[in-house]
Amino acid sequence: MNTMSDRTDPLAYLGDEIADLKAKALYRPLRVMSGPQAPRTVMDGRPVISLSSNNYLGLATHPHLVEAALRATRDLGVGSGAVRTIAGTMELHEELERRLAIFKHVEATLTFQSGFTANSGVIPTITGERDLIVSDELNHASIIDGVRLSKASRAVFPHRDVDGLEKVLRESRATGGPQGAYEHVLVITDGVFSMDGDIAPLAGICEVAERYEAAVMIDDAHASGVLGRNGRGTVDHFGLHGRVDIQVGTLSKAVGVLGGYVAGRQHLRDYLVQRARPFLFSTSHPPAVVAACLAALDILEGDPERIERLWENTRFFKAGLAGLGFDTGVSETPITPVIVGSSENAGRLSERLMELGVFAQAVVYPTVALDRARIRTIVSSEHTRDELQACLDAFAAAGRELRLI
Ligand SMILES: *Cc1c(COP(=O)(O)O)cnc(C)c1O
Repeated sequence: MNTMSDRTDPLAYLGDEIADLKAKALYRPLRVMSGPQAPRTVMDGRPVISLSSNNYLGLATHPHLVEAALRATRDLGVGSGAVRTIAGTMELHEELERRLAIFKHVEATLTFQSGFTANSGVIPTITGERDLIVSDELNHASIIDGVRLSKASRAVFPHRDVDGLEKVLRESRATGGPQGAYEHVLVITDGVFSMDGDIAPLAGICEVAERYEAAVMIDDAHASGVLGRNGRGTVDHFGLHGRVDIQVGTLSKAVGVLGGYVAGRQHLRDYLVQRARPFLFSTSHPPAVVAACLAALDILEGDPERIERLWENTRFFKAGLAGLGFDTGVSETPITPVIVGSSENAGRLSERLMELGVFAQAVVYPTVALDRARIRTIVSSEHTRDELQACLDAFAAAGRELRLI
């Protein structure tokens, strides 16, 4: 029954937009999974090996995390019932933040509902109209949105280009802001870039930022649990403890659960508690989420072999894809793009892989440039060699059929 039938639809233009996206092979249907988030699952009713999950270490289904979540739910219930600043701060929330601070070697951390809200919360909270934000051109959408919410001036530097960053900082010092010199400058970069899998040149960025007295913020969503000792992230990977002012991590990817956090000085945390809007105006995590994150930290600290397995699988799979003749870009991490050019090619390759029992999602414009459409693959520590070989065989067959290799 159409209850709106006597009324012209004021949103009809959305239907036209959808038709346009479909005509351009840019429409992305949602795939629906009926199995667990694991290397072998069921996607759109089909058994598949998945290469599209951010569950790098298999923690999303780890028994220790599942048990912790169940126990917390039985003891404390399913919801937290309020925002953190009213009645929604449980002992568990603070325990997780203390554990994360120790893990990251920082004074303090503050958790958010997601990595997205951590980024979009922290950036406008700590910058104002007399400040400047300088951002890598390929930074994640949540950073871009955070910058848009800020009253600060903004500039972009070319991707991973330390000299380019220096040039922006030098020019900004010469010209200043609308009211004269900028008061504060914040340089922001992804740690691992989510579409290409390359790593920010963090030592160079820190060095330049120090020279211009700028603060440095790194978004370690794809580095959390992946890079550095026990998965401590990019700062640990490069040995730059104490030189990055703001680290954003996610609890939603390798950590296997949900959430984001900001790590840094105590006064950063204290200020965010007073002012960060997603923290102030959105309900905190339920106990199960927090307890599972704490259990994930046990695994990261106690079972580093998982991370070693992740990197062994990464080396095997990357070498396999490159050996087939695919353009796998410049990745240095478990994210390996298979760049095929047009959106149509990416869509066809993904479809064919699906028919062959491999789920590897196409990534098209606007997530990547129009002519850089790709299949983005991510291996996990839990893929077996046989599974990865089966994926390579499917890539070989589909790639040859579609004349991509
Ligand atoms: C996934 C991602 C986020 C968002 O993290 P969520 O916890 O999923 O909200 C932020 N930044 C980058 C670079 C990401 O890849």
